[in-house]
Formats: sequence, C-alpha cells, structure tokens
Amino acid sequence: MTGKLAALIADHIRRRGPMDIAQFMDLALAHPEYGYYRTRDPLGARGDFTTAPEISQLFGEMIGLCLADFWQRMGAPSKFVLAEVGPGRGTLMADMLRAAKVLEGFIPAAHIHMIETSPALQAKQAQALAGYQPIWHDSLETLPDDCPLLLVGNEFLDALPIHQLQMTEEGWRERVVDLSGDQLVFGLRHLNFAPPSIQAKPGEVFEVSPVRIAFAQELARRIKAQGGAALLIDYGPAQSGIGDTLQAVKAHEYTPVLEDIGNADLTSHVDFAAIREGVSNIVSVSGPVEQRAFLERLGIQQRAAILMKNASVQQRADIESALKRLCDPDQMGSLFKVIGFTHDQNLQPAGF
Ligand code: SAH
Repeated sequence: MTGKLAALIADHIRRRGPMDIAQFMDLALAHPEYGYYRTRDPLGARGDFTTAPEISQLFGEMIGLCLADFWQRMGAPSKFVLAEVGPGRGTLMADMLRAAKVLEGFIPAAHIHMIETSPALQAKQAQALAGYQPIWHDSLETLPDDCPLLLVGNEFLDALPIHQLQMTEEGWRERVVDLSGDQLVFGLRHLNFAPPSIQAKPGEVFEVSPVRIAFAQELARRIKAQGGAALLIDYGPAQSGIGDTLQAVKAHEYTPVLEDIGNADLTSHVDFAAIREGVSNIVSVSGPVEQRAFLERLGIQQRAAILMKNASVQQRADIESALKRLCDPDQMGSLFKVIGFTHDQNLQPAGF
C-alpha cells in the first residue's frame, strides 16, 4: 500500500471504521485530487486499457448511424441533444458525427453535450470535437430538457460504484475495506440494508449497484419526458448472477485491487438484468443484446468490406483484426452487451 489516496483511505478507516466497496471505488476513481479518472488519460496502448472506439472507427460509425436512423424515424426533430456519458478521448462522438453526416439535417439539429468529470479527458474531447462546440456537464442533471435526447455511453456504467455482498455460514455480509495494522485488507460486516433474494453458497459474492440503477432511472425519466433514445454499452451478464467481478487494471494487466489505489482502473461487470428491471416501468427497453449481434445487424461487416476495398495490405489486416476484437465471442463480441431505452415502445433503435 503506497500513495496519497491509500493513506487518505487508511486515515478515514481509522477514524470512522471499515469502508464499503462503493465508497472505496468512489474515492479511488473520483477523489477530486487523487482519483484515478481525475488525474490522467487512462486510454490507449500507453495507458491502462483500450475500449471499442479506440480499437476502430467502425464502432462509432455504427452507433452514429443507429442514432441518426432513430432521429429520422422519430420525425427528424429540428433541435435535439446529442449526449455522451463518460466520453473518454471523444473518439466515439467524433466517429458518430462523421458517419451521421450522411443523414441530411442531423448535424445542424444536434447540440453536443458531454458528461465528463475528468479535466484531462475534457481537454482531449475538446480537441477531438473542435468545430462542434460541445458543452460539458458533471452529471445528467444539467442537460437541457426542452428537446429530445439521444445519448450514448460506452464503458461508463462499469466505473460506477458497487456493493459486494458475501454469503457466510451465518448469512449475508457486506464486503468492506478495513485496516490490519497499517495494511488495507478486505473484511466483512453486517448488512445495513435488505439481503438479496438470490441463492448463494458460503464464500460466494453478489454485487449490487444502487448508483448504476439510479443513473439508469434518471436517464430513463429524461428519455420518457423529452423523447429520444439511449444506448448503453458495457461488459457484464444478461442475467443477474453470483460472482466477484471487481477488478483493477493497470498497463493492460490485472493488479490486486488494494495495491495501487488511484493509479489503476477499478471496474466491475454490469448486471444488465438489474438495469432492465430498474427502468422497465419508465421507458421501453431494448436488449440487452450481445455487441457482436448489435454491430452485425447495423452492418459492420459491410462497412468493413467497403473500407478494405481501398486499403493497403497493412490497413486491411488492421481492419480484419479490429473487427475480430469487436465481434469475436471470445473477445468483446459476447461479454459486451448493448441495452437501449426509448420513449415509445413502437420505436426501437436498429441493432436489437
Ligand atoms: N467511453 C470512453 C471512455 C470509457 S472510460 C471509451 O469508450 O473510450 C470511462 C469514462 O467515464 C471516462 O471518460 C471517465 O472519465 C468517465 N467517468 C467515470 N466516472 C464518471 C462519473 N461518475 N461521471 C462522469 N464521467 C465519469
């Protein structure tokens, strides 16, 4: 255990007792001074992890066409908010806008809004979107509400805090971060909320994320009230299940969660069934579907074939390999899922 954030967490535990995983994640990722996302650009080969839009322009192009098609089918409103949550380097939005240009009227009608808390990434996004005059927000709360909303979020939900519940011989307990001497260690404490109804054996872990559900519900209420659609893409199961999925990643390798706090990305799998259940009485929900099926229905193979026609041998190999990473079931094709929200049950985004 080294570093300022670890010391700060240790001090907090000394004064107030063990800390739940949600609070730990929140400090590790979002502490205003030392939080992982506040202090760096974590993406790319020289960073800690790579995401779909950073792998290939094909990803953003498919999403852009999906939202442009939805905009047209909802009656081509002359003004709408095109928003992204957790936009990273701004690559996805830039690729979406380039692809969506083919639909006349879409770009002039789009007002670009980015929900991003990291100053380092806001700067990258400003570069990627020069010419579009995006507006930045800390949360959904301040987005305009006087026109329809089309929103996308890739690998955003996985960064939101979770609680981990562990079954013991005595029933459910909550996993916490505690101190043993000067060392941060995992511990257990009694639940201070209702136990889950899922079956589990001693030692097994179940994860819940009230923050994710609250985010999805706020988004859903906006989609319902303003009209529009949201696409959330992330990794995780379609059905709720047992499993400890909290992971720390640094320089493209897994690292122990309590080791390099504030310098490693911390995420967990998204329980898409829980999201679906949380919003299904607010909006019309599409999916979750696997990323592979979604991208293929939107025509990623055809688009790749067109790009390959005019490409060099090297470029062709790169496109092939990107396509594999995005779509192969043993890469991102199956673990990654897409869930969609719309205001109208007769209006589904393409791809589901
Ligand atoms: N969507 C991008 C980046 C994914 S990384 C891509 O696919 O490449 C997660 C992103 O979410 C980063 O931009 C990070 O700064 C942002 N983020 C994490 N927690 C956030 C929060 N609570 N509010 C707003 N943005 C957040």
